[in-house]
Amino acid sequence: MEHSHEFQNIFNQTPETQAYAHGRVNLLGEHTDYNDGYVLPIAIPQKTTVQLGFSLDEQHHIYSQELNEKITIFRNNQPSGFASYIFGCIELLQQAGYQIPSLNLYIKSSIPIGSGLSSSAALEVATLRGIRQLLNLPINDVEIAQFAQQAEINYAGVQCGIMDQMASSLADTQHMLFLDTRTLARQILSFPALAEILIIHSGCDRTLAGSKYNQRRSECQQAAHLLGVKALRDIDDVATVEILPEPLHRRARHVVTENHRVLDAVEIIEDLQDNSASRFGELMNASHASLRNDYEVSVPALDTLVDILQNASGVFGAKLTGAGFGGACVALVASGAGKNIAATVLDEYSHAGYKGKVLVPE
Ligand code: ADP
Ligand code: MG
Repeated sequence: MEHSHEFQNIFNQTPETQAYAHGRVNLLGEHTDYNDGYVLPIAIPQKTTVQLGFSLDEQHHIYSQELNEKITIFRNNQPSGFASYIFGCIELLQQAGYQIPSLNLYIKSSIPIGSGLSSSAALEVATLRGIRQLLNLPINDVEIAQFAQQAEINYAGVQCGIMDQMASSLADTQHMLFLDTRTLARQILSFPALAEILIIHSGCDRTLAGSKYNQRRSECQQAAHLLGVKALRDIDDVATVEILPEPLHRRARHVVTENHRVLDAVEIIEDLQDNSASRFGELMNASHASLRNDYEVSVPALDTLVDILQNASGVFGAKLTGAGFGGACVALVASGAGKNIAATVLDEYSHAGYKGKVLVPE
């Protein structure tokens, strides 16, 4: 097994097995998953690997290479920090009736942590895949995503939708995952022809992301309640939301139009026309405008970076990705051109007084 000496150094044994899971980037469908809507993520090359062995005592032992931190979980004692994601996965498997022995887990990852590329879901999915493999558990990939989401909500305390975990469990780096977050109906779609992904971190941390995220969630709930529907996903005609007071009107308008943009993108891909990348890119540009003006989750750094990207040659479209308030931007660019475009864009971005970083291509 590759790099098993690292495991050996920490745990004094060789690992029994290992599993990995990719990070993801969402191309369209931001802030729609908690409104029962549609999303369109794709896996990124960066991934998290978990190596597993049987612990010789009653405790689980977890080591994270990135954090250079070793944590012992006394069985049934909820830990804090990164171990809570793993503890949650183990607990949920036990609650589902599986006997989980004490484990040693070694985690390493190439996914930047806390940048909106879903290192948390990859950690959960890699852990669950590793345990499934080690113990031969009869659970499928959708169940893995569901256990992972429950672990994040109930044990790590993050009120997330199911997009990240479904993407990490079911998407690959060559195909987009078109997912209906209400029914979990899904379709694997090919990527727009002659295009590739460019992801740049804005250099700005997602400081307000948590509190504003919860605020947006409750605004959407209020809007759905006032409109008499279960979730904003149930609104098809954008004119319906005009009766709402501000800011609920604009919040709901983002969600309704964003769901339409995902469905339009799927049609574009299914059309198989030569200009699919530029049509797809236009939807990404429109998504950013809606996230900025209606949903108000952008910040000046993201707007500046997106603006530079949208005006660079070889770029079909660009938007912020993830929750917003900092983090990364994603662009659809001409295939093979990502690295060069990134260099030009970062240069211009630095003239505007910011320091960005290319995340994909690696
Ligand atoms: P994102 O998922 O966008 O990267 P989150 O805030 O949702 O950001 O998740 C980041 C958290 O996930 C980290 O603070 C840590 O607790 C956990 N995590 C992710 N990757 C690792 C890793 N390689 N080692 C330890 N903890 C990790
Ligand atoms: Mg996360």
